[in-house]
Amino acid sequence: MKGNFNIHSPAAHSQPVQLLDLSRHNFPIKDEMLAALKNVVESGQFVLGPEVKKLEQTIAAYSQVDYAVGCASGSDALLLALMAADVEPGDEVIVPSFTFFATASCVTRLGATPVFADIDPVSYNISPEDIAKKITSKTKAIIPVHLYGQMAEMKEILNIASQTGAVVVEDAAQSIGAELEGRRAGSWGHITALSFYPTKNLGGAGDGGMLTTPDAVYAQKLTLLRGHGMEPRYYHKVIGINSRLDSFQAAVLNVKMKYIENWTMMRQQNATRYHDLFMVFGLDRDIDLPRTLPYRRHVWNQYVVRIPQGHRDTLRAELAAKKIGTEIYYPLGLHEQECFQFLGYTPEDLPETHRASQEVLALPIYPELTADEQVYVVEAIKTYFDANRSRHLFPSGAPQREAA
Ligand SMILES: *Cc1c(COP(=O)(O)O)cnc(C)c1O
Repeated sequence: MKGNFNIHSPAAHSQPVQLLDLSRHNFPIKDEMLAALKNVVESGQFVLGPEVKKLEQTIAAYSQVDYAVGCASGSDALLLALMAADVEPGDEVIVPSFTFFATASCVTRLGATPVFADIDPVSYNISPEDIAKKITSKTKAIIPVHLYGQMAEMKEILNIASQTGAVVVEDAAQSIGAELEGRRAGSWGHITALSFYPTKNLGGAGDGGMLTTPDAVYAQKLTLLRGHGMEPRYYHKVIGINSRLDSFQAAVLNVKMKYIENWTMMRQQNATRYHDLFMVFGLDRDIDLPRTLPYRRHVWNQYVVRIPQGHRDTLRAELAAKKIGTEIYYPLGLHEQECFQFLGYTPEDLPETHRASQEVLALPIYPELTADEQVYVVEAIKTYFDANRSRHLFPSGAPQREAA
């Protein structure tokens, strides 16, 4: 990628650099999307139907599994996965604390107890060692999250789970197309949840989700559960929910699936370009750059840097003043959220989660982000550290930084 940017170029940037510009992302395929929506209107089939069937087949093949079941959101996909695993009151489900809320709310919704595990400080993914410490005979399921687009340690996790028979549900909401040892996210666990929320790598024009599974029995159960547990019509075998995927969403997503590989490649190029820029500017001494672990295909839903304690929020404010959009995924571990206080964790119970929540910052990485915009972002970060570098960076307890 070196030479693909000009570090002397954009002196003034009047346009904001958005964290994610969906209109820029969708503009080139706008006509194709509208034509697909028109077809649905004319077909009169608005729920499930042929567009959903087609998407289920495409996503199953893309995720290297036999079965995929559409549903209304990624959050519902997680809930349905746990319902299919028969999670009930008294059960425990091990989840990372450093994730989006939905990874844990599906557990409490079924009356079970989330058991929060800490993360690996380099990948930000759930620590298999902490899972091994927390697994009990009550552990009905484990939900590893493939955070930011990089897969969790699935081999270790499946190995631990197999010792007690816990069901492994992958939360791949941020990681469609990610790989570990050449095998896709969604093909490792018993069941996988995907999200089509617009900020995800495969984003719809609204809410949507999908489940993948290599298991015919789970596929059948999930199909039943998403449609009121009804089969045939008005005969209810189990108590399911209403979580169907709209044909509108599936039609848009069927168009977008044609481009997903290309978009993933553009995200990867942007990640490489950031890395090169940060090195050229010498900023790798000031901040921790994200790292792709061995045998991984990272799909870069987010490009997250770690900023030393005390600098993250001031840097973020300075970037905001320069109209550069950033985000903090996530400002609090779930174990620190008000709604989970009843579980009795203190912040320091999960020290790496707590520290990450104070240090992470997501920079714009979406496919259509330009090289000039990336230079502008990196220059703005350099300006900040040139003015503030004298302050002590990374006090004791900071991560060991290794060569990328
Ligand atoms: C987005 C997301 C979800 C929830 O997906 P929705 O479609 O928004 O309900 C779950 N887990 C993770 C890690 C997510 O990023």
